[in-house]
Amino acid sequence: MLKRFEKVYGIDLGTSNTVIFERGKGIVLNEPSVVAIDQNSGGILAVGTQAQAMIGRAPAHVEINYPLMNGVIANFDMTTNMLDYFMKKIQGRSSLLRGSKVYISMPCGITNVQKRAIMETIVHKGAKKAIAVEEPVAAAVGAGLPINEPIGHLVLDIGGGNCQVAIISLGGIVASNTLNRAGISIDRDIMDYVKRKYNVEIGERTAENIKKQIGTANASAEERSLEIRGRDMVDGLPRSITITSGEIFTIVDDFIKTLVQAISATVELCPPELAGDVIEQGILLCGGCALLEGINERLCMETRIPVHTAADPLECIAAGTGMML
Ligand code: ADP
Ligand code: MG
Repeated sequence: MLKRFEKVYGIDLGTSNTVIFERGKGIVLNEPSVVAIDQNSGGILAVGTQAQAMIGRAPAHVEINYPLMNGVIANFDMTTNMLDYFMKKIQGRSSLLRGSKVYISMPCGITNVQKRAIMETIVHKGAKKAIAVEEPVAAAVGAGLPINEPIGHLVLDIGGGNCQVAIISLGGIVASNTLNRAGISIDRDIMDYVKRKYNVEIGERTAENIKKQIGTANASAEERSLEIRGRDMVDGLPRSITITSGEIFTIVDDFIKTLVQAISATVELCPPELAGDVIEQGILLCGGCALLEGINERLCMETRIPVHTAADPLECIAAGTGMML
């Protein structure tokens, strides 16, 4: 008898990036959670990577929309349109989700009603089943931690819109805290800083590039510099300036301090046995900002807890979501 092959997907619907994992195949999609809309017609012009390329370069009638802002769903219809587009993209023209099982992790800030609505949409598109997964649990599974044992693990996910600190044990969350500051807020702080210090306005993508290229959480890192371009606020003309890693460190430093407070507040919330486990097991660091230079060592130094960065911080949540049993 021919048994139909059931497809299993894991989706990490993030505020900055959406990542899709297919069981048996691995990561099949990783694109920014961005939609470009034509304001004249109201139609969607581009989604994901294509839409991101338009940021800061689009004509007036093109609106760039981030459906998930600050870890909540800012625009529900846009979120489902985007998901629909991504699912179609990975499946080609064929039978969409038909008969598949979809595990999905969503930002912790979204409501249960919204979560249910997203899952209903996925089922409506043809999936046999849609199951919501808690992000920190998925991250731990993706990193290969034995989550079902009665041992506490601390997961720190630093994404674009928010950070989540969670202590998990026996497959569930025991204590957690979220911060509405993460990668995007660092970018904004960089934009503000350049404006104040140099009277130059830079775009979001330039700020993000500065963070990725010379951003550091290490006070004694070797000084590096980067030439960037923006618009002079005095004469309105394009201007290039050179910015150093030391300048960006000051901005990152402020964020790290907030992060350390959130970690200790979370440890304080959990029973002492688990707190002991956390010190022994260490912190699992994931999310795109785990790639920030020196963040691992810095967090380790500040919290005196060992920090392990996930093998692939940007993709481990989707992978873990897809590996759920
Ligand atoms: P989300 O789960 O909210 O979608 P991600 O986990 O995908 O977020 O992380 C996105 C964030 O990670 C962005 O703010 C991005 O700038 C940041 N990021 C990605 N790569 C790097 C890097 N190499 N260095 C520093 N930050 C990075
Ligand atoms: Mg995420």
